Amino acid sequence: MRLPELLTALLSAGIVASIVSGCQPSTADTKISGRTMGTGWVVRAAGCDLPDCAATLNALISQRLDELTRIFSHYEPESEVSAFNRHSGVEWFAVSAELASVAELSAQISQLSDGAFDITVAPAVDEWGFGPDANVTAAPVSAPTDAAVEAARRTTDYRKLHVRMSPPGLRKDDPKLRIDLSAIAKGYAVDQLAYLLEQEGIRNYLVEIGGEVRVAGNRPDGQRWRIGIEPPNADYPLIDYVIEPRDQAVASSGDYRNYYVMNDTRISHTINPVTATPVSNGLAAVSVIAPAAAQADALATALMVLGPDAGMELAEREGLAALLTERTATGLRVRQSTKFADYLVSYEPD
Ligand code: ADP
Ligand code: MG
Repeated sequence: MRLPELLTALLSAGIVASIVSGCQPSTADTKISGRTMGTGWVVRAAGCDLPDCAATLNALISQRLDELTRIFSHYEPESEVSAFNRHSGVEWFAVSAELASVAELSAQISQLSDGAFDITVAPAVDEWGFGPDANVTAAPVSAPTDAAVEAARRTTDYRKLHVRMSPPGLRKDDPKLRIDLSAIAKGYAVDQLAYLLEQEGIRNYLVEIGGEVRVAGNRPDGQRWRIGIEPPNADYPLIDYVIEPRDQAVASSGDYRNYYVMNDTRISHTINPVTATPVSNGLAAVSVIAPAAAQADALATALMVLGPDAGMELAEREGLAALLTERTATGLRVRQSTKFADYLVSYEPD
């Protein structure tokens, strides 16, 4: 067997995935990349028949990502999410069908996880210094006051957000309620790029945004796509687990890329919606494999909040393919759900 070669080390943002290839890429391999949602995107398409494939796809993808940013970004004051967040009325607020459908999917994952995943967590995300106005290069000078955390906690509750599909709209019970789709929007965008490729007749592809990946068909060399999962805290692209997602998506969440340290405590960007405080349950990273990237993305965040035991219980109960990495006094402890084993392939580093 050829020595496996790391094609891409996806170290940009919040990522644990790298793409692993075993053979020479063929000439039919189109690889394009760019920036979106504060991170990078990569698309690889095998056997693309479009004229000038790379340039054509690049234009279509960039246009689609711009559309999605105009809906989901909470950094852009003009996005739909920002407009809904500014709106302090409790009557229906008209939104695009896309925003309503992602809010609906979010509500389903909130129910499934008993509120561990909750897009109404935005006020707490802001209080802890991870919101749109955050200074990404520096930790806040102090933790939020108890009163501020309590106010954020009282506002946060997915049951206070209502979704209507026709005409598409959102409604808040609490005028202070705000939403943050950061834990699902990247996954949703990955799915949208996958549909775009399929509409162009492409059946063999890999799409990745900031570590959330979706694959279909085979690699240019005819083999199945393989994804490598890095252990948390890797200083270099070290691959621990290699999986073959087989026409599915894999998404990861972790406490080791987007965090700061305050008074010797690691402050994670994942918030427990019940307490409105950053999670500290021992979990360092979670990866989930699911048919769609939006689900995988949201579920990875949900398991991060639930922690090693309740997270694994949910994964087993729902038949999810999940890999949970926990920090223990003796080092990292990795646990995989029963279903995860279906996707694991053996890998010899040398
Ligand atoms: P990453 O962006 O590293 O892939 P996630 O998908 O877990 O990680 O998204 C984390 C982001 O989601 C946070 O920065 C915050 O904006 C938001 N968030 C934090 N806690 C929650 C939660 N419990 N439910 C939903 N969104 C959350
Ligand atoms: Mg997520």
